[in-house]
Amino acid sequence: MAGLFRRIILAVAHHPVVERIMLRSHAGRCLARRFVPGMTLDEAVAACRQLNDRGMSVSLDHLGEEVKDEVAARAARADYLECIERIAAEGLDANLSVKLTQLGLGVTGPDALVAEAITELAEAAGRANTTVTIDMEDSRWTQATVDLYTALQPAAGNLGLALQAALYRTPADLERVITLGGHIRICKGAYLEPPEVAVQRKDEVDLRFAAMLQALLAQTEAVPAVATHDERLVDLTVALARDRTAPLEFQMLYGIRTDLQRRLVDAGWPMRVYVPYGSHWYPYLTRRLAERPANLLFFLRALPRG
Ligand SMILES: Cc1cc2nc3c(=O)[nH]c(=O)nc-3n(C[C@H](O)[C@H](O)[C@H](O)COP(=O)(O)OP(=O)(O)OC[C@H]3O[C@@H](n4cnc5c(N)ncnc54)[C@H](O)[C@@H]3O)c2cc1C
Repeated sequence: MAGLFRRIILAVAHHPVVERIMLRSHAGRCLARRFVPGMTLDEAVAACRQLNDRGMSVSLDHLGEEVKDEVAARAARADYLECIERIAAEGLDANLSVKLTQLGLGVTGPDALVAEAITELAEAAGRANTTVTIDMEDSRWTQATVDLYTALQPAAGNLGLALQAALYRTPADLERVITLGGHIRICKGAYLEPPEVAVQRKDEVDLRFAAMLQALLAQTEAVPAVATHDERLVDLTVALARDRTAPLEFQMLYGIRTDLQRRLVDAGWPMRVYVPYGSHWYPYLTRRLAERPANLLFFLRALPRG
């Protein structure tokens, strides 16, 4: 049932007319603001500072994905380099979260462009004493993403990778990347995937997440980043990691379950909040809507009456 809702919401949201209304209307922008604190780097930095002041670290995501040409890919890289400069100059407790299709994956055939981008960002992040997490996009990109991480992390040393519990392949990917150190973010998976590559039932995704969590917490080579707002999985992590001395962190999205974020920080757990910013917010918003159709109520409430 949840899968059906997700499918319907994504189909409707990607209709050009709906997209135009969401992008242009006050109600659409209000809804976006709930999950995206700013259109500019300055606004993202302000949100980051507030979260740092509350004892939370941040992952900054300059929104954008599936760029169409090399110019756009190089522009995205330049934006991230500027973001790293700000992190360093302002002493922020923040790292980067990047999407490979924003940095050129798929644009020029062999992935030299994106490998060059990740290497440059990792070096700049290293000089700023921070790290770069590679988000996991839909399953068309999984193999290339895992391959790129595997190729670059040994030399870079400060990369991290997101893995999605929903995909059948993920336990094998997890095994492959753990030995490379870095930080491994486990999440349920935000994309609609076909039954050939991913489990479809939510309870099965949750079980797979729990199994990955156990594998990740049982080792100390890679740093686990537990990315969920699911209270049962958070509680399981707390129970499993109570005696763990090696590092780990929780990660949650900006604007979601801020009560749980606060509670974990108050209990002494490291919390990193994912802060997206920029004008290309629509695909990000559609994923947040598909995860929780009730978010549409915010849109409806913001519509003008009369
Ligand atoms: C830091 C971070 C990074 C991520 N990176 C990736 C990535 O690289 N690739 C990827 O595919 N996915 C990524 N995701 C998204 C993830 O895969 C899930 O789609 C998303 O987190 C919702 O799943 P959940 O674990 O919170 O559990 P759910 O069972 O979906 O939700 C648990 C509870 O969280 C709250 N909640 C969840 N989603 C929403 C929402 N949209 N709006 C309001 N409340 C909500 C609700 O209270 C819900 O009951 C990331 C998630 C986080 C937290």
